[in-house]
Amino acid sequence: MNIHQAASLRTWLDRVVTNHERWAERFGVHPVHPSARVSDETVETVLDELAERLGGNYPFFHPRYAGQMLKPPHPAAVAGYLAAMLINPNNHALDSGAATAAMEREIVGMLAEMFGYGTHLGHLTSSGTIANLEALYVAREIHPERGVAFSTESHYTHARMCHLLGMRARPVPVDGSGRMDVTALEDLLRTGEIGTVVVTPGTTGLGVIDPVDEVVALKRHYDFRVHVDAAYGGFFTLIAGDHGIDPAPWQAIRHCESIVVDPHKHGLQPYGCGAVLFADPSVGRFYLHDSPYTYFTSDELHLGEISLECSRPGATAAALWLTFKLLPLTRKGLGAVLAAGRRAALRWSGLLEQSECLDRYQAPDLDIVTYFPRTTPFALSQIDRAAHRLMRRGMDAQDDPVYVSVLRADASAFASRHPDVAVDTDGARVVRSVLMKPESETFLDTLHARIEQLVKAG
Ligand SMILES: *Cc1c(COP(=O)(O)O)cnc(C)c1O
Repeated sequence: MNIHQAASLRTWLDRVVTNHERWAERFGVHPVHPSARVSDETVETVLDELAERLGGNYPFFHPRYAGQMLKPPHPAAVAGYLAAMLINPNNHALDSGAATAAMEREIVGMLAEMFGYGTHLGHLTSSGTIANLEALYVAREIHPERGVAFSTESHYTHARMCHLLGMRARPVPVDGSGRMDVTALEDLLRTGEIGTVVVTPGTTGLGVIDPVDEVVALKRHYDFRVHVDAAYGGFFTLIAGDHGIDPAPWQAIRHCESIVVDPHKHGLQPYGCGAVLFADPSVGRFYLHDSPYTYFTSDELHLGEISLECSRPGATAAALWLTFKLLPLTRKGLGAVLAAGRRAALRWSGLLEQSECLDRYQAPDLDIVTYFPRTTPFALSQIDRAAHRLMRRGMDAQDDPVYVSVLRADASAFASRHPDVAVDTDGARVVRSVLMKPESETFLDTLHARIEQLVKAG
């Protein structure tokens, strides 16, 4: 967080606490029980100890951190979360979280609209993994005898969740850029064994967009569901058609049966915020349950009745609601935040192509850039060592550190992108940077120069 944002946050948090006090006073002032009382002085000491321990983290907030998919939430999300957390509503039931449940329904409606869904059913989850679990659970109830197909580049948790659900998992190979091979998928569909295909518009490793439109087109010939795992990529639909992002896969999402998107990735939220959406609201029937504990004061649908999880923080909904009020789901709202990262990725891709000491691994589809140090000889074992060395050098530097991550590419994947490489081992680590902070755009030249300097230093 930069200084300007920190100052704003301090003001906003003050307002949140004041508003909360005002609300609480309506019920009369009541003293805290002595058992729960702690002294200001003790808290301050322990807070400093906590800061000390947290100090070991990498600076995810700073554009010099260009590694994994990590950044702090927007200060608006922090303020929204705190405001609701001070009350601590539970979005499991309306009695325990009526106000935040209403916000959750509004947010889910906005997300559904963003993807072009009309009628829908959906809710927030604690993560993308749980959201995908719910989508696959519904898929199993609809096609109990049939399996799930997903590409070898899709998120590793799909196989785990299929195992948990007792569903057969069928990996689909990818093409030379990491996209699901639709011909191979069609061969699988011909067997009649596949009930659900998972497509990923924005894979977690390379940020590659599966051909959602081509998979959807196959529905004319075969009977199967399509689940869209847009945990990482989903919000890029706001800027599809711009910055070299092909709109076709994004426009096809509306014709898919379910969607997962993670507001805790590109939606500026703290961890604990995924979402699942279904096109057909009648899938709610698969969630029916009887809770002997939950009290009901209304006949309205409770979000707890359409969720596998029980307790869920109302604060998550409040944080997201406040964020979308300030940065709406439009091209100019949240879209502008994603566009900055996308522009940075495109520009960096160009700089990497011209670089004497670096080369890009493949052109970025979204905001993930992959690259590697050029080595002599140009061999996988050399590249692997140089990529790892670059990562270590960057993070260990006392002055001017930079933080990148590495991704393992197997030999055939590497050679399909760079046929002149000497395959002297089974793969190589390449460098991976997720440019998910808009500040990466203004920091890009500094970042690129620093990385070149580290590579040249050998
Ligand atoms: C991050 C991610 C997941 C898992 O989501 P979590 O919120 O980390 O559980 C699933 N699929 C894709 C494509 C992802 O990028």
